[in-house]
Amino acid sequence: MQTSFSLAQLTDPDIKEADAILRACVHCGFCTATCPTYVLLGDELDSPRGRIYLIKNMLENDQPATPEVVKHIDRCLSCLACMTTCPSGVHYMHLVDHGRRRIAETYDRPLADRLVRGLLAAVLPQPVLFRLALIGARFARPLAPLLPGRLAAMLRLAPSRLPGRSPVDRPQIFPAEGERVKRVALLAGCAQQVLAPQINEATIRLLTRHGCEVVVAAGAGCCGALVHHLGEEGPALAAARANIDAWQQVGDAGGLDAVVINASGCGTQIKDYGFMLRGDETHAQSAKRISGLARDVSEAARARRLHRARRARRSSLLRLGGDLQYPPARAGDAAARPQDRQYRERASGSHRDRQYRLHDPARRRHRAADRPHGRAARLGNGRSASAVSDRICGRLARRCSQTPSRSAKATARRSSVR
Ligand code: SF4
Ligand code: SF4
Repeated sequence: MQTSFSLAQLTDPDIKEADAILRACVHCGFCTATCPTYVLLGDELDSPRGRIYLIKNMLENDQPATPEVVKHIDRCLSCLACMTTCPSGVHYMHLVDHGRRRIAETYDRPLADRLVRGLLAAVLPQPVLFRLALIGARFARPLAPLLPGRLAAMLRLAPSRLPGRSPVDRPQIFPAEGERVKRVALLAGCAQQVLAPQINEATIRLLTRHGCEVVVAAGAGCCGALVHHLGEEGPALAAARANIDAWQQVGDAGGLDAVVINASGCGTQIKDYGFMLRGDETHAQSAKRISGLARDVSEAARARRLHRARRARRSSLLRLGGDLQYPPARAGDAAARPQDRQYRERASGSHRDRQYRLHDPARRRHRAADRPHGRAARLGNGRSASAVSDRICGRLARRCSQTPSRSAKATARRSSVR
């Protein structure tokens, strides 16, 4: 995309960054297919491409935000689905954050808007306040029809039952089961620990069972994304600095291999601390280091090879073939688990045939179709995996026997020229 920032404007590092992002966009519109607001509303200005145009015009003309720009930028969920589909690697996240900062600086929101946003910014990042607000909302729900639109909607969203406070969310250290292989800090978070405390509990169980010492650091709290997405840069940076200091202390006390996050939005925010605090003399280096250590729980599990452990168990059962042995079923557990049913099915007579096919060089390239989780299983069309594999191999063999390869054609052409 062509931009027309003046040289004076480009001396601002934020504008320079925005210019580079805007220039990467080629207007292809691939991102619109994955944008939930565009899919729902069908308005180009509610698509990533439309918002990029709005932000570009606002920044280039050095104008204050207009109500139209505010409306469409406010509707962006910051889900970043558009970034996953963009073939040009446009960093929409940094651009929309810049747009929100400009809106916060230049747009005078109506009073009701300011009150609601202020309420969200004050309550959501504080677990104690959020819990109290949810308890209050439960009692206030009958009044919802009398309240203005957004407040009524918030009351209706409040859950009717709230889980109790989990003991794992207090600052403490959970020792590894067996030999300690890693020391990680867990972001206990804010709203999630009130609404679904079982997520942190399960994460700690998973990590400690796989040799990780898990530290819930004193002083760490909300990642800052909630206020950041409301355009409030000051509180967002303060939250980032508090977390960085807390994890820095954990690292100084006994080393730190990773900061594990089990909410994807918080993970994205923490991985961006290095960028957010790039101009902060005291925190720039440590922010970069913490961003480098940030891992989603699935990434941490992958690093600990949990997926390999599961796969190894599966393949060892596969190798046993017809003599497949099963671990004794625990009452109400193993017998009912679908994966165990799968192991039993693999013990059928066809299993040895499949092993033969897997080691046949002619078919090795088509192993994916041969796996129980492979193509046929995903298609769910009733055909067996081996039938699909046979069909693909047959087609390839026919094509190879009938069609001369490209190199054969080129050789023929060369000899005819000679
Ligand atoms: S997919 Fe990327 S390059 Fe294409 S319009 Fe969207 S942001 Fe621009
Ligand atoms: S972040 Fe999500 S809602 Fe916002 S433009 Fe991208 S896909 Fe659409």
